[in-house]
Amino acid sequence: MPPVADTAVVLTRVDYSETSQVLVFFTRGHGKVRAIAKGAKRSTKTRFMPGIDLLESGRLVFSTRQERSETLATLTEWKQTAGLPGLRERLDRLYAAQYVAEVTAHLTEDWDPHPGLFDALAAVLAELNRSQTVLPAVVEFQAALLMEVGSWPRFDACVSCGRVGDLTYFSSFEGGMICRHCEPGRVEKYELAAPGLDWLRAVEGAVHSRVAAPAEDAFETAETPPSFPAPPPRSVAGAPARGPQGGGGDAGHQPGGGATPSREPMPVCAAFGVLNYHISHLMGRAPLLAARLLPRAPRRPRS
Ligand SMILES: [Zn+2]
Repeated sequence: MPPVADTAVVLTRVDYSETSQVLVFFTRGHGKVRAIAKGAKRSTKTRFMPGIDLLESGRLVFSTRQERSETLATLTEWKQTAGLPGLRERLDRLYAAQYVAEVTAHLTEDWDPHPGLFDALAAVLAELNRSQTVLPAVVEFQAALLMEVGSWPRFDACVSCGRVGDLTYFSSFEGGMICRHCEPGRVEKYELAAPGLDWLRAVEGAVHSRVAAPAEDAFETAETPPSFPAPPPRSVAGAPARGPQGGGGDAGHQPGGGATPSREPMPVCAAFGVLNYHISHLMGRAPLLAARLLPRAPRRPRS
């Protein structure tokens, strides 16, 4: 197979030997590609940068014998196009960027292209590179990822009985919201109050509209910040009426001045929490940096 050129983001990187690296790229045209970069750590006269870094964006050329899972392609050229230095200026940005890279690596298959997801990944990294708050962009990316891989849950009605009101819990196994009438019989469930649910519905609409008008090439436009919508309103037109407990749950909890930024509004924290919960089920474990991004993550009491 002749060498192939594509654009890519570096999702993971493992040093393979004194001079080589094994990299997992998410490419626009070929999906996730594992490639060995021989001599990538030598600093002179290679066609690579002196070492290829995590979360870099660029153009790559690779060769492969077959497009089959676990096949290691050979990287022949890499040219970084977006260094995103802002990610390393703040820890929350770096954690958020590593989170989106980790979940992308785990929820996509090798050689399964998702150009729309690639554009969403490039856009969220560009956004995180300069943003003051990270969670709204991360939640949008969680939504784009789940929609692209066909695992977006149902947030408009109870997945059990179809009721559109009194939606109080989310079930990853059931694939959506459960109303308070169906909830008592469920073991696997995650409480989600009305403001978080409204945020998710608004994000769903925003991501859908962006998918309908995809970017030509995310890297060509990377200099221009992507236009993210304003934070979704706390109540969405047409949202069902809430039960008497609708205002409780997530909205009632405060982060309590923990290590995570307290400026994130609680609905976006709740939206992140429920999507992260669903992603954790799909991955079979929690993403490594989820707790760093989620103010409400349970902490062990100090004794
Ligand atoms: Zn129900």
